[in-house]
Formats: sequence, C-alpha cells, structure tokens
Amino acid sequence: MSISENIKHITAQIPEQVTLVAVSKTKPNALLLEAYDAGQRDFGENYVQELVDKQEQLPKDIRWHFIGHLQSNKVKYIAPFVYLIHGVDSLSLLKEINKQAQKNNRVIDCLLQLYIAQEETKFGLDFKEASQLLLSDEFKELKYISVKGFMAMASHTDNVEQIKKEFASLKTFSLQFPDLNILSFGMSGDYKLAIQEGSTMIRVGSSIFGERNYNI
Ligand SMILES: *Cc1c(COP(=O)(O)O)cnc(C)c1O
Repeated sequence: MSISENIKHITAQIPEQVTLVAVSKTKPNALLLEAYDAGQRDFGENYVQELVDKQEQLPKDIRWHFIGHLQSNKVKYIAPFVYLIHGVDSLSLLKEINKQAQKNNRVIDCLLQLYIAQEETKFGLDFKEASQLLLSDEFKELKYISVKGFMAMASHTDNVEQIKKEFASLKTFSLQFPDLNILSFGMSGDYKLAIQEGSTMIRVGSSIFGERNYNI
C-alpha cells in the first residue's frame, strides 16, 4: 500500500479524538510530503538535527512532535517551532525548555515520559517521581512550559497481556491529574491495543512509511 493509503487505513480505524502522529525519522522529505498531501499534519521526529532540517524545508503548517530523548544542550534548536515535546523525564530538562521557551516568547507544551516497561533500558520517570515532580514548587514556577500529559512505551514483547497491563497502569496513574489528558502511547505494533487502553495520541512510523533502514 502507498503512504496515503496507509494513512487512510489507520485513520479509519481510530476514533476522531485520537491524534495520529506520523513518525518520520530517517525518512526523506519526499515521503513526508506524500503523507502531507494525504492530509497528515502531525509528524514525529527523534533527532534534533534531522527535525531542524525538515522543519526548514517542509510546509510551515506541520505540527512537529519531538519524540526522542532530548539533551538539554539541544533544546535551543527546536524551541522556536516545536509543537509538543513527548519525552521529558527530568525537572532539569523542563527548566531548560522553560528557559528557551521564554527566549522565544512562547509556551512549549510537553509530556512527561513515564517508565512502564519491564526492560531496564527505557528512559522515563516512575509514577512516584512523576507525581513528586508535578507537585513540586520548582515545577509550579515554570511559566513557559505547559505539561499536557504523559508519554510511554510498553515492553518490547509479544505478550499482549503484559502490554495491556502496562498501558492500563499509565491510564490509571494519569487519572490523578485530570488536566493532563494527552496520553501518548501506542506504536505500529500496538496502537489498537493502546487506544483500547485509553491512548489519545499514537505514534506510528513503520505502518505508514515502511521499515526503517538506519544505514542509508
Ligand atoms: C520510532 C518510534 C516510534 C514509531 O515506531 P514504529 O514501530 O515504527 O511505529 C514511536 N515512538 C517512538 C518514541 C519512536 O522512537
């Protein structure tokens, strides 16, 4: 199937209130434009330089989501235009985003990345750390960021029950913070399950653009 068919296929399966973020990392502009021409406006990227280049070259009404692991010293490059930063996992990173947002005279929307998987390699805060951060005075002083919800990745496993349990734990946690209602979870392999478990924003790459080749 073509990119536009893939997008139509996925869009037809998801409720209207769920946002589809097309994850376009490593993919050339021509493919992003194909998605754009099919009506797609939310795109997700993992690497700062790649995101900056694409933002310069592609239509200005694209909403750019940063979904990778963001280093503090690179926030300044995306601060002028980024639409939503998904993977925030420390107060110090939030402070840097706040500082760069202020310099750009804007408020930057963020999601806190939560750690729900069994694996030890994933980034993110545990539930207790996330609560402490959100309730801290230091956090409340940050006027140029707005935390809108949470982002997470499930374990890399075929065990559907395990993935379901992890997604459900995130949804349950989020209910303590009713204003933070963007829940970013679900990728190509598990987005249907994710929506069943309460996701409001899915990040889909290979099911739209095909497999990634990191060697090119
Ligand atoms: C690459 C990536 C995705 C998309 O993964 P697919 O399996 O290709 O859909 C989603 N979220 C994050 C954080 C990613 O790095």
